[in-house]
Amino acid sequence: MSIAPASTLALGDRFARELPELAMDWKAEEAPSPTLLALNEPLAAELGLDPDLLRSDDGLRLLVGNLVPDGAHPVAQVYAGHQFGGFSPRLGDGRALLLGELTAPDGTLRDLHLKGSGRTPLARGGDGLAAVGPMLREYVVSEAMHALGIPTTRSLAVVATGRAVRRETVLPGAVLARVASSHLRVGSFQYAAAQGDVELTRRLAGHAIARHHPAAAQAEAPYLAFFESVVAAQASLVAQWMLVGFVHGVMNTDNMTISGETIDYGPCAFLEAFDPATVFSSIDETGRYAYGNQPLVAEWNLARLAEAILPLLHDDQEQAVAIAVEALGTFRPAYSGAWTRGMQAKLGLPEGLADEVVTPLLGDLVELMKSSRVDHTGFFRALGAAARGDVEPARGQVLDLAAFDAWAERWRALGPDGDAMDRVNPVYLARNHLVEEALVAGTDGDLAPLERLLEALSAPYDVRPGLERYAEPAPEDFGHYTTYCGT
Ligand code: AMP
Ligand code: MG
Repeated sequence: MSIAPASTLALGDRFARELPELAMDWKAEEAPSPTLLALNEPLAAELGLDPDLLRSDDGLRLLVGNLVPDGAHPVAQVYAGHQFGGFSPRLGDGRALLLGELTAPDGTLRDLHLKGSGRTPLARGGDGLAAVGPMLREYVVSEAMHALGIPTTRSLAVVATGRAVRRETVLPGAVLARVASSHLRVGSFQYAAAQGDVELTRRLAGHAIARHHPAAAQAEAPYLAFFESVVAAQASLVAQWMLVGFVHGVMNTDNMTISGETIDYGPCAFLEAFDPATVFSSIDETGRYAYGNQPLVAEWNLARLAEAILPLLHDDQEQAVAIAVEALGTFRPAYSGAWTRGMQAKLGLPEGLADEVVTPLLGDLVELMKSSRVDHTGFFRALGAAARGDVEPARGQVLDLAAFDAWAERWRALGPDGDAMDRVNPVYLARNHLVEEALVAGTDGDLAPLERLLEALSAPYDVRPGLERYAEPAPEDFGHYTTYCGT
């Protein structure tokens, strides 16, 4: 089959044209010998890209940034951000590049972005590189999130560069090709605001509205409507994380998107033993980004977005603050509504039950799960069986049997639908020990464990024979999982 040369791939430069203050022209570092480690063929098809083209020599050079399509203008994006609560006025892509925007066959615009493509002027102390393991982690976890129906950036490919990366040990380097509805972050707005240039903030907001929240343009107060829709998107997103036991690990404001997609899979991991205080990241010493804190942190980050756009909300600062506070007040009810509806679905309950019934039922369940440290994913699947009359698998996971029996009696009296539960409670999850196993093998050049894991995770709700080990919690000797910041 003849394929179009990679140099003819049409990439737009809307971000760079509309927001030159946030874009620095830059090129990827030369990769000595690009080798494909993972290619997402379904995503390629969705984008109208030919997988054979991407596998070709030119395709691999495109995927590491060494072949720039005609007319494309790769840029490093500049942004600011609160990292663990401290403000950095100038962060930006230290090791990443926006190659440009693709127009998918469905007409939507998607960023094609590279991570690990070499030092940029924003690299500060960093080497601009990424190791194979963390790039494969982003690939597998982001695709797992997508298969769970959770908004996320997507992973198109991981290509080993043939260049060594120095971390605690010397590791093989790689570039991740990532696709997102955009890479606009809360930190992008903080950067614009820190320039003291209201016109820039307004232009950035206009760009974000057009790309992500177009209905806001029609509202009476478009910037307020924009802020409210970011609040709604993030409330919904974080509720979905909580429902599946996802811990992002580094919810800095530069890692929170305006689109409402999950971004930047660094020290992320999934809960097994249910405990809201769970932290996996080695650098999160105070537990700021613990599982149970994520809704509060999202709200805090959205307050930073509100601050950054205050001049767009009203000319009078006091009135602008009042408007922002009121709009931010929509986060908590939006979050609890999304979480409660999600939990009701996880418990197979019909909509429309009275709050007086649902609220205590959920509250007591969370207490039971916490006191018994049940396996978060396995427990909901076991409750699905319980809804069908087989109570023991769930009962066997809790310590206080009397409390469980009393709770289960209340729940079963509401007529839960076990089959509906199995459609929303995953059986296969990107469990930490499975991800680790796939990354260790992948780093050594054995991609088979990664491929098998991706296959299991591609249909997370459908039990299939032979995949039993992907449904099991980590073996005892795996211990508490720690993810390191050397991503
Ligand atoms: P993160 O929290 O991983 O999203 O990264 C925070 C900031 O550090 C971003 O500006 C990254 O571009 C930058 N960064 C992370 N790792 C490196 C690296 N190895 N070299 C250069 N910059 C990096
Ligand atoms: Mg980041």
